[in-house]
Amino acid sequence: MWRFGRLHPISFINAQVLGPDGVLGSSLRIEAGRIVDLNTAPQLKDLVIDLGRAIIAPGLINAHDHLELNNFPRLKWRDRYSNARDWIADFRPRFKTDPALIEPLSIPLRDRLLWGGIKNLLSGVTTVCHHNRLYRPLRYGFPIRVVKRYRWSHSFLLDSEAVGQEYRRTPKTWPWIIHLAEGTDADAATELDRLDRLGGLGANTVIVHGVGLSATDRAKLLDKGGALIWCPASNFFMLGETARVSELAGAGRVALGSDSRVSGAPDLLGELKVAYETKQVSLNGLFRMVTSDAAAILRLPRAGRIAKGLPADVTIFSSRHDQPFDHIVAARRSDLRLVLIAGRPLIGDPDMAPVFAAARVAAEKVRVDGCEKLMAGSLVERLRRSAINEPGLEI
Ligand SMILES: [Zn+2]
Repeated sequence: MWRFGRLHPISFINAQVLGPDGVLGSSLRIEAGRIVDLNTAPQLKDLVIDLGRAIIAPGLINAHDHLELNNFPRLKWRDRYSNARDWIADFRPRFKTDPALIEPLSIPLRDRLLWGGIKNLLSGVTTVCHHNRLYRPLRYGFPIRVVKRYRWSHSFLLDSEAVGQEYRRTPKTWPWIIHLAEGTDADAATELDRLDRLGGLGANTVIVHGVGLSATDRAKLLDKGGALIWCPASNFFMLGETARVSELAGAGRVALGSDSRVSGAPDLLGELKVAYETKQVSLNGLFRMVTSDAAAILRLPRAGRIAKGLPADVTIFSSRHDQPFDHIVAARRSDLRLVLIAGRPLIGDPDMAPVFAAARVAAEKVRVDGCEKLMAGSLVERLRRSAINEPGLEI
């Protein structure tokens, strides 16, 4: 992704390096964009950064977003829907009449996609799964990683029986992702069976939402090895309830997704808080849903964990709580100390300036929710040239 010359290795010390089950160690060395050591003393040539007990987590994975739809307000025209079908139908007559749709759509697609990338980066996400066409700006030079090996259908509503064909076209080693059972009515309750009859239920089937799944459906999904992407904030906003996820989560078959801001939480950090409030999953379980479990479900063997040899995709959280998993769920955007993708710093606290220098990344001062931060200068430049006006980001 980026080329490295003879750059300084970096040793982060006095940290809490977090794995799926707890703290893995207290130090991390990265070199040439990769994690080279855990729990070893810094070497002579290293830049040494004392993190004062801050948490080093794998870069977060947002398993579901529509990147081009994050400059919209949250929109609905009824208090509660019984099926996403009716919510989508409410948009159709308004595209040419409602300023809440016309204004955001007037911004060029390239800028809207970048806006979605910035939203995710500011919340510590280093990999996002976009649900829609993989537009060209997402393939090259996007600020964060976008899952590229996947196939998708929108839903039974938009794709009807063609979903079976789409599933069959998907390599078994790629995830196939579909919005399914996004409703509380009788229609939503039939969708998993319908998918099964079309031959679309297998180990790489990943359904988004699943609010209308019965206990039998959930057991069947688990039995077939499939998985669920859970978007509770979006579900509560639209449907007034969310999926039951505890059994699937216990088996490691749930990833968390923010969805877009049209229906979802402002970002993945907001989504974690809504997920926590449902009391269905432990803090540790929520952490896995945005790291290791998400990586397994989306077939990303190099993401979602911290291990020797993997790319240094890392999000560092300041430490305000006793239990490390609490930090992740309680974190605000301003609590992120540093975000690295392949060892390249993109945003961080002002005292991380030496890390930017060691990676030869020019940094510029910005403010996130009133707090001073450093951002990679090339990214600031792109933002200046765009029509992006991310709330809380001052450049
Ligand atoms: Zn969606």
